[in-house]
Amino acid sequence: MQHPYLTAEHEQFRRALRRFLEQEAAPHFETWEQERRVPRSFWKRMGEMGYLCPGVPEAYGGAGADFGYSAVIIEELERVGSGMVGIGLHNDIVVPYLLAYGTEEQRRRWLPGCVSGDIITAIAMTEPGAGSDLAGIRMTASRDGNHYVLNGQKTFITNGIQADLVLVACKTDPQANPPHRGISLIWVETGTPGFSRGRQLNKVGQHSQDTAELFFEDCRVPAANLLGEEGRGFEYMMEKLQQERLVVAIAAQTAMEVALEKTIEYVKQRKAFGQPISRHQRDHEDHHREEPGAVRGAGRHRRERWDGGWRVA
Ligand SMILES: Cc1cc2nc3c(=O)[nH]c(=O)nc-3n(C[C@H](O)[C@H](O)[C@H](O)COP(=O)(O)OP(=O)(O)OC[C@H]3O[C@@H](n4cnc5c(N)ncnc54)[C@H](O)[C@@H]3O)c2cc1C
Repeated sequence: MQHPYLTAEHEQFRRALRRFLEQEAAPHFETWEQERRVPRSFWKRMGEMGYLCPGVPEAYGGAGADFGYSAVIIEELERVGSGMVGIGLHNDIVVPYLLAYGTEEQRRRWLPGCVSGDIITAIAMTEPGAGSDLAGIRMTASRDGNHYVLNGQKTFITNGIQADLVLVACKTDPQANPPHRGISLIWVETGTPGFSRGRQLNKVGQHSQDTAELFFEDCRVPAANLLGEEGRGFEYMMEKLQQERLVVAIAAQTAMEVALEKTIEYVKQRKAFGQPISRHQRDHEDHHREEPGAVRGAGRHRRERWDGGWRVA
């Protein structure tokens, strides 16, 4: 699709990325869907090629590129298959929290790995009992000296099986009123004792995007892992969910375009009754155009639909 906000440089970048994905992702995608995982080796290749977290400033190993480059990456990954969506979540949903609200120490510690593919990220908001009603989460993080102790469970977490670093929404003040003021966001490195992964969940699609349950049992993380200020986690999520919605919309638009392209290609090559099935629609139109009276009216209606639609024959 043509975008008014993309320049010749973005399109040049798209061509190089598409070539890369045609060689290194598309031929393996069906295997990844069966194995239910985009392998870490591919994440590393994305990092080597500069396709992870393009918006991260150069000081932390990134390219400091504008969001147009992210949009191109989301679109081209979606063209390979919807199972690649975990990479977009890392690039444009989780890492932006670190950029926007992280301390300098947190950024220096984790951003270079996010750019290189050595660190895969996830965000854990949803719980078995709280999805849309995010303020209703029950997971707690109690302060104990220089640590937070996390207890609770998360579900439906994208990149959950492979993630090295998870941004976890938890209640640091379970008594807060209103409840959303008691929510904070805390980074958990997945090697931390007390953290464990549950099942990789079966889904109707996006099989290679690993979606998992996560468990936290007396999981002690340094207090320095708090993102931004205590009690402001809900506010940060409301802010960043805007870009998440945009990312999902870009991927959905691309998925529809690909579906349409494939349908057009199919109806042109698929033959029935001696000709491509796309020709039958045309014949139908011609037939109705010749009908008299009321039927001609119906034909006009159909012709309008045809003219306003996609010419497939
Ligand atoms: C493939 C996939 C990946 C995901 N990845 C992540 C992730 O990485 N991290 C994460 O934290 N979560 C993730 N999620 C979870 C996702 O954010 C939740 O599924 C979503 O927030 C909805 O929550 P729920 O499933 O509990 O549905 P519910 O909140 O139980 O909603 C069920 C239905 O009720 C409707 N509903 C709810 N409230 C209202 C209302 N007030 N008025 C009218 N209708 C209402 C909803 O629209 C929905 O149709 C993922 C989910 C999927 C399927």
